[in-house]
Amino acid sequence: MADIIIMDGKCPEENINAVIDKIKMLGFDVNLSRGTEKIIIGIIGDTRELSEEVFVSFPGVIDVISILKDYKLVTREFHPADTTVFAGNIVIDNKHFVIAAGPCSVESYDQMFTTAVFIKNHNGKILRGGAYKPRTSPYSFVGLGKEGLAILKDVKNETGLPVITEVLAPEEVEIVADVADILQIGARNMYNYRLLERVGRTSIPVMLKRGFQATIGEFLSCAEYILKAGNNQVILCERGIRTFDSQFTRNCLDLSAIPVLKKESHLPVFVDPSHGTGKRELVIPMSRAAVAAGADGLIVEVHPKPEEALSDGYQSLTFDLFEKLIKEITPFIHIMGRII
Ligand code: PEP
Ligand code: MN
Repeated sequence: MADIIIMDGKCPEENINAVIDKIKMLGFDVNLSRGTEKIIIGIIGDTRELSEEVFVSFPGVIDVISILKDYKLVTREFHPADTTVFAGNIVIDNKHFVIAAGPCSVESYDQMFTTAVFIKNHNGKILRGGAYKPRTSPYSFVGLGKEGLAILKDVKNETGLPVITEVLAPEEVEIVADVADILQIGARNMYNYRLLERVGRTSIPVMLKRGFQATIGEFLSCAEYILKAGNNQVILCERGIRTFDSQFTRNCLDLSAIPVLKKESHLPVFVDPSHGTGKRELVIPMSRAAVAAGADGLIVEVHPKPEEALSDGYQSLTFDLFEKLIKEITPFIHIMGRII
């Protein structure tokens, strides 16, 4: 099996082209990464039957590697450089630290507009809010649906903030994509392969949240579905996993997942300290820790009146606490050499 071809960084262009032509002739696509020492050519497609022997004797080829993992396109071996995600006018990369904030659910125009203006004035760069809510109980508030999307659209147009919102089902991708700058796949849907393939066929960035019982390997395999379908604009989001203690925290925020994912994959990594802890007072300390552990951004729940929120009020920050969050994480962001 041949997945990656490593070539000498100083070899002539015609040698590189010869390898690329061969790969394409065999019906595969190519991902080319140029470094000064090495050139890395990733082979895209089903490579199970492709022999390493095909490439070893091409001039300039140093090594041919097979990836014996459940995923390949998401790996750093395949794509060494960090992927940059473009969401509206916002760039998610290894230089910035990006904060997405807003209520759990879209409840009203006023709620969304006031929140959007506040977070925008305090370094929030992306507005979050669910119109379609995956709730544990079907009797809980399940979101405003299309009306919620219309509110998001208005607030986005008025404030210029890009919007992230959840999509629950493949047949709803089209209408959600009409508004969303980032499509959110929630923890409960991480394994929904048809949904992953469907968002993979759009060119809209996707934030994939880690399932609360998912291993890191399963998480990356699910991201692979999206990339395999053609969309490499994917953000991974650690949002806490289930452990044995539900008395003091709702989930256990797996901070170690951050450096692991950054090493294993080229995709940006966000942290959701709101769902990750389930407690308002834990959001700021865990956000500081997430920045220090190397995250690329946060997605945080903020509500003008958390006590009146229709979902997740107990973990939502007030405006004052959001301001405090930004103040407290900014020095950490600078220590990590990033721009807020
Ligand atoms: C949410 O972001 O409101 C949400 C439901 O998150 P998760 O899928 O991580 O539970
Ligand atoms: Mn929520």
